[in-house]
Amino acid sequence: MDIRRETVELLESLGVSADRLSGGDFKVSSPVFGEAIAELTPIAPDAATEAIEAADAAFRAWRLVPAPKRGELVRLLGEELRAAKADLGRLVSIEVGKIPSEGLGEVQEMIDICDFAVGLSRQLYGLTIATERPGHRMMETWHPLGVVGVISAFNFPVAVWSWNAALALVCGNSVVWKPSEKTPLTALACAAIFDRALKRFGEAPDNLLTVLVGGRDIGEVLVDHPKVPLVSATGSTRMGRDVGPRLAKRFARAILELGGNNAGIVCPTADLDMALRAIAFGAMGTAGQRCTTLRRLFVHDSVYDGLVPRLRKAYQSVHVGNPLETDALVGPLIDRAAFDHMQAALDAAKAAGGSVTGGERVDNGHADAFYVRPALVEMPEQTGPVLEETFAPILYVMKYSDFDDAIAAHNAVGAGLSSSIFTRDIMESERFLSADGSDCGIANVNIGTSGAEIGGAFGGEKETGGGRESGSDAWKAYMRRATNTVNYSKALPLAQGVSFDIE
Ligand code: NAD
Repeated sequence: MDIRRETVELLESLGVSADRLSGGDFKVSSPVFGEAIAELTPIAPDAATEAIEAADAAFRAWRLVPAPKRGELVRLLGEELRAAKADLGRLVSIEVGKIPSEGLGEVQEMIDICDFAVGLSRQLYGLTIATERPGHRMMETWHPLGVVGVISAFNFPVAVWSWNAALALVCGNSVVWKPSEKTPLTALACAAIFDRALKRFGEAPDNLLTVLVGGRDIGEVLVDHPKVPLVSATGSTRMGRDVGPRLAKRFARAILELGGNNAGIVCPTADLDMALRAIAFGAMGTAGQRCTTLRRLFVHDSVYDGLVPRLRKAYQSVHVGNPLETDALVGPLIDRAAFDHMQAALDAAKAAGGSVTGGERVDNGHADAFYVRPALVEMPEQTGPVLEETFAPILYVMKYSDFDDAIAAHNAVGAGLSSSIFTRDIMESERFLSADGSDCGIANVNIGTSGAEIGGAFGGEKETGGGRESGSDAWKAYMRRATNTVNYSKALPLAQGVSFDIE
């Protein structure tokens, strides 16, 4: 197949002119064949600064539009995404290497968050609070915040933007988005789709959404700009360690969505058929390149032999290959660096006594495309590479005999994103969900660690950064809260009984 030609055709049908896709020095490759599919012209730092100023002007006008009317724009965006789902999903598969159902699933998530945000646009309400003073009323109001900066990672190139943008827009903010340098094409497509929604919407300020194509330096411009009161940054913990303190230094808000080292516990009463499917999808799906990918598994010694040999078989037989032309379940790694990291982690695991099934490169005839057989590593204990996220399909499996020990080991890593337990024992499941159970932002029972729905708040604790985005009350991070006290009496009683009588 001519992947470059298909990319240009898809982008044109999504509304991106072919002129933008060549002539620059910013090379974009598809991991499917490892070939270049576009050469873009990145934005210069000065131009990025000007774009942020323009987005601030857009915010000042947009914040005055009533929230349900802002919701109408997001409703139209959802409609345009529905119409573009097949093409955008395919483009995600080309740019990231996701299998078709996952490329389409990513776009479905965008549609879902738009629907959620439309409803939310009529529910941005605050509380009315009892006051201690007679003839007074106290309440909270939520106001738009400003320019919302979005920095996104390669592995969810478009969904993460939409989780942030749909909420930010109904909350009255403008959005400046710095997509991953590995996946700028799907971002250009989103901007074109958004433009179509804007045209149908009618009168709206210019520059409500700006896409900044560039690398880390452009991300830094966004992080340091004083007119960006909130940056939602998704990526590695290394990135968050840099971005978090820079934002804190200028008292800007951060939503940090960083790395995960997610684990599952398989208990004696687990439904092993169900656990097997959930583990296989959680650990091998998206070629192990989800922040919520299952990376560690603690299996009770009474069910180890009933589960792990079946798992090993699944690892040996899963179809790894070109996701665009075959029915493979595991596509490529994003690039050579990801492959090298995986091999280094497997070497370290072997040195620490691990026994490895899989992990080898699968040849597809293209020197710069990196397909691997997912690796199942049986470890004597949780040590070395098991303690870190390696962004590749490696599942470390360990035996446990004592439930308290399993929970302690589960929590004994830096990251705190997603977790799951497989059990039919209510005492174990409730303990796992309790204050001294899983320490993650997401804790599941009898489903895997990956594949969250947009209705819940998404994010994790500890080195995952503490941010929450998407559903529940995550919208509050995109607004500023004012507490208002109104005196409708003829007296002026002071709070806490203070007297301050002047002549
Ligand atoms: P990455 O950290 O290399 O890059 C992410 C983004 O941050 C890119 O757009 C990059 O240009 C930008 N960036 C990097 N350093 C920066 C800096 N100092 N200042 C400003 N911007 C900077 O991550 P990646 O390889 O694209 O993605 C994989 C990682 O993302 C994994 O660790 C994965 O777990 C994590 N991730 C987390 C979530 C989540 O919701 N918690 C979701 C997806 C991915």
